[in-house]
Amino acid sequence: MQLTFLGTGTSQGVPIIGCKCSVCQSADPRDQRLRTSVHIQSDGLSFVIDSGPDFRQQMLHEKIDALDAILFTHDHKDHTAGLDDVRAYNHLMQKPMQVYGEEYVLSTIKREFSYAFTEKKYPGVPEIELNTIDDRPFFIENLKIIPIRGVHFKLPVLGFRIGNLAYLTDMNQLPESERYKLKDLDVLIINALRIKTHVSHFNLEQALDIIKLSQPKQAYLTHISHKLGLYQDLIQQLPSKVLPAYDGLKITF
Ligand SMILES: [Zn+2]
Ligand SMILES: [Zn+2]
Ligand SMILES: [Zn+2]
Repeated sequence: MQLTFLGTGTSQGVPIIGCKCSVCQSADPRDQRLRTSVHIQSDGLSFVIDSGPDFRQQMLHEKIDALDAILFTHDHKDHTAGLDDVRAYNHLMQKPMQVYGEEYVLSTIKREFSYAFTEKKYPGVPEIELNTIDDRPFFIENLKIIPIRGVHFKLPVLGFRIGNLAYLTDMNQLPESERYKLKDLDVLIINALRIKTHVSHFNLEQALDIIKLSQPKQAYLTHISHKLGLYQDLIQQLPSKVLPAYDGLKITF
């Protein structure tokens, strides 16, 4: 399986419009972050986790010309706003896009993209097939996905375990009862927003604590804000086997 980080930035992306801080002004491409999403390729299956406002640009940049499914972690706009652009894949694949999310996520999708779900559809609207998931494992074709429950301020969100990889974004709490799902990981991808604590996201220290507990072979930080510092400084402060992710980074697992 191959995973590509399509975006590794927090909800506003990095740089933030109008911000003059050293991270937002950095010329290092690893400091320029689109909204958080990953693409996973497994045998013949191609899917993304979340489709935020940069979805179109991310798919063009990575030249992804086949996409079978989208998994949603939660319903915030920085993870869902790009859904209209599945129209390109409806045309390429000649089928509706399979979308997976919890019940509340799918009802937000139906409300925000209501034109795609009306009885009499305007020609050319996105074709979307909704698949409700909950805490229980499910399959996309032959690939088993294990949801991991997290809490994002007060919102229940999902992370996912796929084989020996786990992906946890947009959470600031991971209940004890879910931690067994992080055993024997090759790769753990986890949200680390900034240095100071935050009401709805893990900060760096909290992310490192979870990495320490679960002992993956390799960990990557994502959903990073401009307040986590410059990439070149950050990489020197982190324990070995923990790397800040950056847009375009590819890993196999
Ligand atoms: Zn987010
Ligand atoms: Zn900034
Ligand atoms: Zn969020």
